[in-house]
Amino acid sequence: MAVVRLDGLTKRYDRNHPPAAVGIDLEIADGEFMVLLGPSGCGKTTTLRMVAGLEAITEGTVSIDGRVVNDIPAKNRDIAMVFQSYALYPHMSVRDNLAFGLRRRKMPRVEIDRRVSDAAEILGLTVLLDRKPHALSGGQRQRVAVGRAIVRDPKVFLFDEPLSNLDAALRVSTRAEISALHRRLQATMIYVTHDQVEAMTLGTRICIMNGGRIAQVGRPMEVYRTPADTFVAGFLGNPPMNLLPGTATDAPGGCRLRVGGMRFDIPEHRTIPSAPGLAMTLGLRPERVTVRPTGSSTEVAITGEVVQVEALGAETLVSLRLPDVEPLMIARLPGDSEVAIGTRTEFFADMALAHVFDADGRSMTAQREREET
Ligand code: ATP
Repeated sequence: MAVVRLDGLTKRYDRNHPPAAVGIDLEIADGEFMVLLGPSGCGKTTTLRMVAGLEAITEGTVSIDGRVVNDIPAKNRDIAMVFQSYALYPHMSVRDNLAFGLRRRKMPRVEIDRRVSDAAEILGLTVLLDRKPHALSGGQRQRVAVGRAIVRDPKVFLFDEPLSNLDAALRVSTRAEISALHRRLQATMIYVTHDQVEAMTLGTRICIMNGGRIAQVGRPMEVYRTPADTFVAGFLGNPPMNLLPGTATDAPGGCRLRVGGMRFDIPEHRTIPSAPGLAMTLGLRPERVTVRPTGSSTEVAITGEVVQVEALGAETLVSLRLPDVEPLMIARLPGDSEVAIGTRTEFFADMALAHVFDADGRSMTAQREREET
């Protein structure tokens, strides 16, 4: 078990391109499941590979249990990594794939057998131990890849998009297995993905990256509820938060936002004062937009033209065109909602649950909540 700490971790592959990762400061607690989440190219894999020792560090340090490991080769870091490609030896049985690394380390045979059978038991591979990889399903192969990490009993597990080669149903079940594995082993795990559902369901905390930098770190519901900026707000959530560009206008004791042809009074506790005329963004989660009023005193009516209705069964997504506003606003309604395309319809949103972002995209709402705690 281990604490992993990254201080100012930076990777520059070449001078002509911006760094792949810049000034990453992150502490992963003992037994924590940290997810590195972000779009393609944001530097997640590069960061993970620097932790593993597979990528040279340009600046900064990686420490494990207080010891800087920058100069320690990957094989001596006591870290096991599970890759997207299972990288199993095709000519070896599952048992031999699991045992291979331990044999190379000249571990006593009895100990190897014990570890292989324990890992097989944990992962439900016992009956498959004599099969070759070609006779396994994708999910079973991925379990063998995880098993190879488990038998090493490492201080830290690293996962690089381990589920992305699996079909949708298998992704869901394997995700649950990884979560159960973490609960069982209580080991420190760092997991790279671009899939927000994996991040939300697996992570003790999520580190969201954007352009090689950390955008926000926090518990899943914390980052969902109080995104630090418009990038995080637009990345988490499906559909993501509605981000409607507006301008601040004067309002006594709070903030009034002009968005297209509409005005929204944001309750004082949701925002910090701002000068009239400043560009701001109003953020509304689609599930916070309703067709029936809830009766809250801070609720406002928003009338728009329904341009698209997607009935998905459990929920219905409605796209609305608001007067003089780009982009469309999305409402996520219960599946039995009846809304007709082409109609002008009144929707409701509680401004006490709205988010306000400043001209640089930073959340004034999150800032306010930080000031208050
Ligand atoms: P993905 O989800 O697509 O794997 P990522 O967030 O893991 O993306 P990285 O693979 O870490 O991103 O890449 C970050 C940046 O570094 C990208 O711009 C990528 O093109 C660049 N990069 C990655 N590996 C190398 C390399 N070996 N040489 C040069 N540039 C690289």
